[in-house]
Amino acid sequence: MDVLIKDGIVVTMDKERRVLKNFSLAIEDGVIVEIAREIKGEADFVIDARNKIVMPGLINTHTHAAMTLFRGSADDLPLMRWLQEEIWPVEAKLEPKHVYAGSLLACLEMLSSGITCFNDMYYHLEEVARSVLESGIRGVLSYPLLDIGGEEQGRRLLKEAERGLREYANKDSRVRVFLGPHAPYTCSKELLLKARELAEKHSTGIHIHVSETEEEVEGFVKDKGKRPFEYLDEIGFLGENVLAAHAVHVSGREIEIMKKRGVKVAHNPVSNMKLAAGVAPVADYVKAGVTVSLGTDGAASNNTLDLFQEMKTCALLQKVSRGDASAVPAQVVLEFATIGAAKALGLDREIGSLEVGKRGDVILVDLQRPNLRPLSNPVSHLVYAARGCDVCTVIVDGRVVIHGGSFRTLDIAEVCRFAEEEALDLFQKAGKAEKLFLSEEVL
Ligand SMILES: [Zn+2]
Repeated sequence: MDVLIKDGIVVTMDKERRVLKNFSLAIEDGVIVEIAREIKGEADFVIDARNKIVMPGLINTHTHAAMTLFRGSADDLPLMRWLQEEIWPVEAKLEPKHVYAGSLLACLEMLSSGITCFNDMYYHLEEVARSVLESGIRGVLSYPLLDIGGEEQGRRLLKEAERGLREYANKDSRVRVFLGPHAPYTCSKELLLKARELAEKHSTGIHIHVSETEEEVEGFVKDKGKRPFEYLDEIGFLGENVLAAHAVHVSGREIEIMKKRGVKVAHNPVSNMKLAAGVAPVADYVKAGVTVSLGTDGAASNNTLDLFQEMKTCALLQKVSRGDASAVPAQVVLEFATIGAAKALGLDREIGSLEVGKRGDVILVDLQRPNLRPLSNPVSHLVYAARGCDVCTVIVDGRVVIHGGSFRTLDIAEVCRFAEEEALDLFQKAGKAEKLFLSEEVL
């Protein structure tokens, strides 16, 4: 076998949600081949998991990785002003190298807090794919589609997406390609349906922002005479392969539609709170049987890519907003970040839990930390007490990417410097460099 993880507390997230004491796990050719109390045989890489939790890698189902370059550059603004005044003018100057630098930084940040797979939507997808392959993470990358700038824009982006769908089809199992129609208010009906058709043809998923703010929904209702999910259903866009990011402002009828069509949700509690977008009805989704997963959104609206923080915030936000401390308990939140997220991406036969036959996406959480003792309840600790920095080992597709807290794929200092340089270059080109603390002096 290639990797043997010995004597840990294994939080499987399998169907019975078993938590196994002093169990070992073996990986061969990227696949989990055995989970047992004792595993015999030689391994190339042996990991002592005593005093560690062994669990499935976390899955971030909504982000814009390269936006790490915007981190801290525009805080404390409502969504539309934030986009129009701070984000879009800088994004207009984006070059492939900026996206590469920002994505690489994001991949390292995510891996270091135990995220082994993320679902992205951003420009210059080939640069995001490059950082996925180099860093060792797994990525589902969505080609952005929109035609608010005219039919020509839609046609060009569709063509690019079609080419990408073919190109990445058999390239590397760690890169998957989705279609990413940006939102119902930035895409025409024709473009949305074309995305649907293409997704069917290539048996892939659709990643779309829906109903993030109240203002957006009000504008949409004024324009189309119906709410976003009602409209998307009526035009025949919805289906089991649709992952809706945010879905904060929805009616009871829309939740019924989502359940009926098998639409999945990527819930981004920290971003929703930071931009004051609102509180998604997560407890209602769970009650209705809608699959929920968790996303960090981009680092410009979070400002970190840490799903431990997201899990805790998700649980707390539901409790306080509903005045019900029992709303969305720890076990359910942990599902959002693991097996639920795998379902949301249509990858639950491959990842999301530790079971024989699944890909070897495994993380270890160090229990030799004051914040994780006494170990009364591992699941509770993972949601309410653990932090991303408690992750000590990260394995993706059977390859050890981080061990003992150190990266084995890339040099962190080099990636940080590269990101600093490219952020400065980007903000200089956008005429906003004076806003940043970083400068040539700091570099
Ligand atoms: Zn987003």
